[in-house]
Amino acid sequence: MATIETDPAPNGGDADDDPAIWVNPNDPAQSIIIGTDKRGGLAVYDLSGKQIQYLSDGQMDNVDLRDGCKLGGQTVAIVTASNRKDNSIAVYKINPQTRTLEDVATRKIKLEGAVYGMCMYRSAKTGKIYYFGTSKSGDVEQWELFESDAKVDAKKVRNIKLGSTVEGCVADDELGHFYVAEEAVGIWKFGAEPEAGSDHTQVAKVGDGRLFADVEGLTIAYGKNGAGYLMASSQGNHSYVVYRREGNNEFVKNFRAGAGVGVDGCEETDGIDVTTANLGPAFPYGVFVVQDGFNDKGNQNFKLVPLQTIVKL
Ligand code: CA
Ligand code: CA
Ligand code: CA
Ligand code: CA
Repeated sequence: MATIETDPAPNGGDADDDPAIWVNPNDPAQSIIIGTDKRGGLAVYDLSGKQIQYLSDGQMDNVDLRDGCKLGGQTVAIVTASNRKDNSIAVYKINPQTRTLEDVATRKIKLEGAVYGMCMYRSAKTGKIYYFGTSKSGDVEQWELFESDAKVDAKKVRNIKLGSTVEGCVADDELGHFYVAEEAVGIWKFGAEPEAGSDHTQVAKVGDGRLFADVEGLTIAYGKNGAGYLMASSQGNHSYVVYRREGNNEFVKNFRAGAGVGVDGCEETDGIDVTTANLGPAFPYGVFVVQDGFNDKGNQNFKLVPLQTIVKL
């Protein structure tokens, strides 16, 4: 059951798409959810669902973040988003005092082709941070992010080609995997390092009785010693599928997120995110956040589900 929902998107229709959770190291109960509004920009919500910032910066489709990044001599969380308005990489840092985003892109960083979804990767081997941009043509562009004059610039390092539309993706920073959802086909697993080449394996297939097109958001719940879960939005049947994070990503379970007290259930979900961190009294074992395609009162929004009601870690 969803226990909290965010304020509705400022824009009507199919607006909200993908959430990202920032765990506040100073006070986990003061963590935030960043949500894309592909008709206008990015919104920031507190854990009660209240909107605390809105940036009218473009048509943001997907969003992701990495904490512990060095920038201008400080350690900050870097947030990136795919801006479909001009096919660029939007880049922000999180101000931990105000819990709001500040633009730190050194320039308008445009991908070579059109962008759709995105995700980030931090290499355990080199410490470098990457951005994967996906597209409706099936092309995936991997870009390396780097510091330039206390801001963030990027350069392209790899192209991957899939057969059809790819949007949702997620990288496993510890195990070095890049997972991408080919919406009508299934989930693929590549090496996340730029020199990993085009070798890949299929994790799951649309039509296997669990995954129903479109396959949308992907996220990883990090457990101990490389264990945990890979989670996917099976948009076609309003559900989510859980796989093991390790080994060959064995199927674990599928589930739906139903209505809670004063909060409607979740349907036709695009993006998802999860953290296993203790976020205080409301979410002591972490939270699973999903976009809800049909909010009962008003525009689309995001729903928060206590993680311990889904999986044990
Ligand atoms: Ca899609
Ligand atoms: Ca989507
Ligand atoms: Ca709903
Ligand atoms: Ca509602």
